[in-house]
Amino acid sequence: MTTTTDIAVVGGGIIGLATAWRLAQAGLSVTLIERGNVGQEASSAAAGMLAPYAEAANRGPFSNLGQASLSRYAAFVDDLRTETTIDPELIRTGLLRVAEGNEGEADLRNTYAAMRDMGSGGEWVEGETLRKLEPALSDTVTAAVYSPTEWQLDPRKLTKSAAVAAAKRGVRLLEKTEVVGFETSGRSITAVKTSAGTISARRVLLASGAWNPQIAAWLGATVPVRPIRGQIVSLGPCYPLPLRHTVYSHHGYLVPRSDGRVLVGSTEDEAGFDSRPTAAGVSGVLTRAIVLAPVLADAAIESTWAGLRPMCIDRMPILGKIAAYDNAYLSAGHFRNGILMAPISSELLTTLIVTGDAPIDPAFSPSRFGI
Ligand code: FAD
Repeated sequence: MTTTTDIAVVGGGIIGLATAWRLAQAGLSVTLIERGNVGQEASSAAAGMLAPYAEAANRGPFSNLGQASLSRYAAFVDDLRTETTIDPELIRTGLLRVAEGNEGEADLRNTYAAMRDMGSGGEWVEGETLRKLEPALSDTVTAAVYSPTEWQLDPRKLTKSAAVAAAKRGVRLLEKTEVVGFETSGRSITAVKTSAGTISARRVLLASGAWNPQIAAWLGATVPVRPIRGQIVSLGPCYPLPLRHTVYSHHGYLVPRSDGRVLVGSTEDEAGFDSRPTAAGVSGVLTRAIVLAPVLADAAIESTWAGLRPMCIDRMPILGKIAAYDNAYLSAGHFRNGILMAPISSELLTTLIVTGDAPIDPAFSPSRFGI
């Protein structure tokens, strides 16, 4: 295979796909290289919550980035729907961030104060008001913040939609093609070596989730990202749906889907690259779900799965140029929020790659790790 492309994107998860699509919209010829099928890893395993205020109490660049991405979501999904007719099923019923008992309420009050400072539009609810809003919640839930602007969608449909949109814009999607190295000349990458041959590239974007460290190592860069396994159990289908809102607590979350399923999650396991669900993981997830909403005890188990979140040691994404090269970029470490962050990450990287500059907070710069 001998071809030249303006940019080679390594990795076909939501981060690589969304950025490839945006780069093609900006007029670049793009080749995306995915060693399996697009969306097969973390991006299909996600629950699909768009919930930037989970970390609001530690307000900072990370919360701001999440909020900026959320504010772009409706337009992002509209744009995908227009280009592909595949609907990622954005559900805007809002999220209930719940507390159990005094200690949980004290934490939640801090989050609530931070959410108000950020203009999130949340509302403190308890007692009868809370029971009316979400009758299935157990008595252990004593208070909640109702957050109407935190939404959810179907990550598999989102990923599929981004892949189709990218292909329609002319992105060459090479599936079942593994990147195995690079050819370089001084400060430039000149080509990407793959299992199917060499592709000449004017620029390269690394967007390979938990595998970014292995790929960046071929460029001499040490990317401090590692896989954190998350396990999910899909319950149902339940008719009628037992929950009206996404329910989020420190001990787990419940995500009701329009097809009658309720996704319950999740774990944070240090298990290397093992992405199989485990007996202990599934049992823990189910126990916590039933404590939050006892009605779920009777639901059928539809399926279970797990995925590898790409976690950076400071739990923030790494967005920017790799300093040792004039034409290499990194979009990594989206950890628990890659679905949420796809609109803003893809926009910032596209701007950076196309114009040479982008308003990326230095907190996300690869240079904080000497990359
Ligand atoms: P991935 O989706 O993992 O994609 C990386 C791709 O690179 C893979 O397809 C892989 O095959 C490919 N690749 C690797 N090596 C190579 C190679 N050598 N050559 C070619 N291709 C290669 N986020 C949210 O915003 N909301 C949520 O509710 C949410 N819930 C989650 C629940 C769970 C259980 C998990 C696991 C994650 C969740 N996330 C959530 C996080 C989100 O899924 C991730 O942050 C996001 O999917 C990361 O996307 P990515 O494209 O960087 O990585």
